[in-house]
Amino acid sequence: MTSLTYDVVVVGGGIVGLAHAYHAHLRGLTVAVVDHADGVVGASVQNFGHACITAQSGVALQYARAGRRHWLDLCEKAGFWSAQSGTYCVARHDDELEVMREFATTRPAGEVRLLGRDQITDRVPVRDRGVTGGMYLPNDLQVDPRTAAPSIARWLESVGIDFFWRTAALSFGEGVVYTSRGPLTAGTTFVTVNYDIDRLFPALAERDGLMRCRLHMLRAILPLEFRLPAPLFTGWSLLRYSGFEALPSVGAVADRLRSEYPGYLDIDLHQMYTPQPDGSLLIGDTHIREVSAASFQSEYGFEALLGEARKLFGVNNIDVSERWQGVYCSAPGQEFLIEEPIERTHVVTVTTGIGMTTGMGLAEDSVARAFQRDRLAAPA
Ligand SMILES: Cc1cc2nc3c(=O)[nH]c(=O)nc-3n(C[C@H](O)[C@H](O)[C@H](O)COP(=O)(O)OP(=O)(O)OC[C@H]3O[C@@H](n4cnc5c(N)ncnc54)[C@H](O)[C@@H]3O)c2cc1C
Repeated sequence: MTSLTYDVVVVGGGIVGLAHAYHAHLRGLTVAVVDHADGVVGASVQNFGHACITAQSGVALQYARAGRRHWLDLCEKAGFWSAQSGTYCVARHDDELEVMREFATTRPAGEVRLLGRDQITDRVPVRDRGVTGGMYLPNDLQVDPRTAAPSIARWLESVGIDFFWRTAALSFGEGVVYTSRGPLTAGTTFVTVNYDIDRLFPALAERDGLMRCRLHMLRAILPLEFRLPAPLFTGWSLLRYSGFEALPSVGAVADRLRSEYPGYLDIDLHQMYTPQPDGSLLIGDTHIREVSAASFQSEYGFEALLGEARKLFGVNNIDVSERWQGVYCSAPGQEFLIEEPIERTHVVTVTTGIGMTTGMGLAEDSVARAFQRDRLAAPA
């Protein structure tokens, strides 16, 4: 590679890097994306494709809300499937319903619609006899994770962004990215390599206790009475997203689920489903945190997911077409790692499983901050 110069070099071509490239492009900057894989293959295609906007809180909620418009714009520009389907959440105990009632009071009118038992079973094909009601979050989105980020990469390439696939970033200096194919000169660099940040900036990763979180995931066809119209959360989801964290009744749900299902503690089970355009469901997930993700998945995790799906939907036969291990970055008590370890080299990592939801808004903010500061610093 002869030495090339760009306003912005993005290292990592997953959704977080692509979103940075997009926002830099919108500002008229020249952009290159470097990725050591030969396409989008990381967490950004392994996930549920669920922009679970409403269940976030704090800065994640701000990023999620801001990102909604960018997902819809990019879906039109890059031509990939998306649905403004919202999210359903089914309750199977009064304590879960109570958390939903409390949640509704924290949000503007219309963002959380509480549903009675018949209302949710009319809309969602759940057949567990314990269903007590639920809620609907109309502002959430979904995309097909297999096509969304790869389509964005292709579209960015078509509008003039240079992609260097199969090219690893090895190290960084002020205004330069040293890659396995030679140096790239960069006005500003964004390093968006997900959990692999521990290989480029180990001290940062160790400071924040970054781990790899690996998840059991399945794709399957279920003989449902009617099609699941939107992503489906369960009571387990109330323990997972920060929007529910501070609600008074959430502790009771956590205590009950943990004592009813002690076998799920080790695998940190979450039970959720996203319907795909071909009629299949993505089913997940479990959470096992390690510095290096072990390759070996227990069958127990898959059995738990399938057993719970059978109970919830009242079906026996589940036709599994794929199983995989997804991996995302995880850090205790933290959702984002944002640092500038070298002048104008910005590390931007989503440190929990919400990068599809927040990545677009996060990137808009991080590009704006980097260039706002440069403008302020420029000589008059
Ligand atoms: C199973 C699963 C389910 C999930 N479900 C959801 C969901 O429903 N909603 C949601 O919001 N989020 C979800 N997430 C989280 C979300 O997928 C991630 O937060 C997000 O994809 C992270 O994006 P990223 O661009 O940082 O990482 P990645 O997509 O992993 O991209 C990082 C890229 O960096 C590249 N790279 C690494 N090191 C180098 C180097 N040295 N040089 C060059 N390139 C390098 C890699 O090749 C990779 O392409 C889920 C994650 C998983 C695994």
